[in-house]
Amino acid sequence: MLELIRHVVQISARRDRTEINSAMVDTLLSLFHPQQLTVFRCYVGNKKAMVFPCAGAGPNGQFLRNAYLPEQRYCYPIERDPLLDRCRKEVSAVIDFLDDGSHRIVFPVVRLDEPVYLIDLTLSEDISADQRVALMGLIEYFGNHISLLDYGEADTLTGLASRKTFDKHLFELLGGKENRRRGANSTSASHWLAVCDIDHFKRVNDNFGHLIGDEVLILLAQEMRHSFRFDDQLFRFGGEEFIALLQPTEEQFALATLERFRQNVENQLFSRVGHVTVSVGFSALQPNDTPTDVIDRADEALYYAKHHGRNRVECYEKLVAAGEVTVKEIAKGEIELF
Ligand code: GH3
Ligand code: MG
Ligand code: MG
Repeated sequence: MLELIRHVVQISARRDRTEINSAMVDTLLSLFHPQQLTVFRCYVGNKKAMVFPCAGAGPNGQFLRNAYLPEQRYCYPIERDPLLDRCRKEVSAVIDFLDDGSHRIVFPVVRLDEPVYLIDLTLSEDISADQRVALMGLIEYFGNHISLLDYGEADTLTGLASRKTFDKHLFELLGGKENRRRGANSTSASHWLAVCDIDHFKRVNDNFGHLIGDEVLILLAQEMRHSFRFDDQLFRFGGEEFIALLQPTEEQFALATLERFRQNVENQLFSRVGHVTVSVGFSALQPNDTPTDVIDRADEALYYAKHHGRNRVECYEKLVAAGEVTVKEIAKGEIELF
């Protein structure tokens, strides 16, 4: 009992998802001695659900990965593991009895009817009724703690990540091992940052009112979720400005993704408003960038798109190579955000 409380205190003291996962793994290992344990983040996109094993313990010992940035090489479609898939579909704990007498239980941590985490344990022997209650309570507590974090981090209108969390995400990317390695190898795949701004949004508000304007923002955020990959990070950055941080890829694929998003928006009917368009500027993340540096470059490309007809996607590096914009040091505080 005392030990359980001590662990709960340890988890509750943390605000960083990776650290919370680590504390949760420690707790489950020390209280229930599972043979295998995995904490999965679960991403449900338009077409498929993916899982990312972000913390756990197995035959090769414990592992812990950044819970904010799903690493592609560890992610896989949930259907590949029938028990995880069943847990997701049934939105309740599921159990499987294994040949060696052990049993595997998967618990979902649910938000808005969709599992956001799955906790997967293999226990070698039956646990007592008291232990079962403790285990379920602990997982429920973990879910409540995560919900509070989600609530604090998400933009209340659109549900996308808010500006508050943006710097943290970007620093993780810029400071991450992976990025430095990539910088050293200078391969052509880099992370990309895209700034998306709705065209003539003032007119939407003026013609239809602020409430309908807000509805357009909600629909646009939904379209973003559909248009980008599950592991691209999406933010509402300001009023009608959105940022997408794309996973490493070549320029042509980043452009294709953004171009598809632009077209999806153009083709969608936004209830009473009808058609709305977006302009997008994007730039590659450099190893020595500060968040302001990369946003300035993407903004420069966005500015170009706005001044060349809107409803366009422009790449900063391409514009520089074509002599359309010149590389300049932009003094901080001078940037005009649309
Ligand atoms: P441009 O094509 O140059 O971007 O034209 P624009 O009219 O979109 O110009 P700008 O980006 O400067 O204007 C942003 C407008 O977005 C101003 C404000 O009325 C509206 N806006 C900002 N935040 C919100 C919001 O939360 N809800 C609603 N309904 N409108 C917002
Ligand atoms: Mg605008
Ligand atoms: Mg704007």
